[in-house]
Amino acid sequence: MKEKERDRKSGSSSKTEERGTPRKQFYEEQKQRLKARMRKIKHKIAVISGKGGVGKSTVAVNLAMAFAKHGYASSVGILDADITGPCVPKMIGLHGQKLRVGPAGVFPAIGHLGIQVVSMDFLLPSEEVPVIWRGPLKMKAITEFLSDIVWGELDFLFIDLPPGTGDEPLSIMQLLPEMDGVVIVTIPSEVSQIVVKKAVTFSRELNIPVIGVIENMSGYVCPKCGTVANIFKVGGGEKIAGDLKIPFLGRIPIDPEICEDSDSGMPFIVKHVNSPATKAFMEIVKKVEGFLKDRKQQDAPLMLRSRHTHAG
Ligand code: ADP
Repeated sequence: MKEKERDRKSGSSSKTEERGTPRKQFYEEQKQRLKARMRKIKHKIAVISGKGGVGKSTVAVNLAMAFAKHGYASSVGILDADITGPCVPKMIGLHGQKLRVGPAGVFPAIGHLGIQVVSMDFLLPSEEVPVIWRGPLKMKAITEFLSDIVWGELDFLFIDLPPGTGDEPLSIMQLLPEMDGVVIVTIPSEVSQIVVKKAVTFSRELNIPVIGVIENMSGYVCPKCGTVANIFKVGGGEKIAGDLKIPFLGRIPIDPEICEDSDSGMPFIVKHVNSPATKAFMEIVKKVEGFLKDRKQQDAPLMLRSRHTHAG
């Protein structure tokens, strides 16, 4: 009687506790499995934007392909974590694929240059069906899905996060451990500079380094003569990077071919090798590599120190 009264007041019951404990344990185990699988990937980079429509997914796909071209073929993956509007498979020519499931788990789909792709899109029965999950259920489903993926040993994983800096990107970032850093995508306008600040605060709150800012849709490449015209104001991304003392990685011009290639499932930088946008992506690859190298050098003395501390 007393026990029942206590349960009623606390809102729990001994029965729900019994049921709750194994479920909690199961959820914890999934998280640990996810961590173990992610540990096999050398570098994990999230691509974020303060708001939608600035070309975040386009940059994530082309940056990943640029790394594959830069000597990392078959060692790069993309996790399309934009759960409400997953569009990476379409951009990379894998739309409609089904993931292969084996005893070890779920295997990513393989695209151009051996790129490994996992997306919520692969789980949807058709194009018209949206992902409708509510609150806690959503994160549980995502944790379960992510913890089952067999990426194997990769050099790079690019994570295309949902747009914005709200609950959804935050919860997904918290699931993914040991990130090397974030790349922030913006467009040149002043309005977008405000959202870059939010993206920087977001990363700092999560203690994840900002690798730098990419200014997308910066200038227009004339399809006839190939020259770049500044039809909008340019330089907003670079200015805000300077103001916030974070690296500026480069500008990607507006190129109608980028849009067409995305729609046809052929990554732009694979098809248009000599375009200004491809060259800009390849320069960004070098800057990201530079960031990772510096970080490794900074971490090395710390690791040595901690090894000595443990030893002695
Ligand atoms: P987000 O992920 O930020 O919502 P997307 O990557 O889906 O944005 O891009 C939105 C649209 O803009 C797509 O149709 C894409 O092809 C196009 N786009 C993105 N960047 C460029 C660019 N530099 N030049 C031309 N079109 C672009």
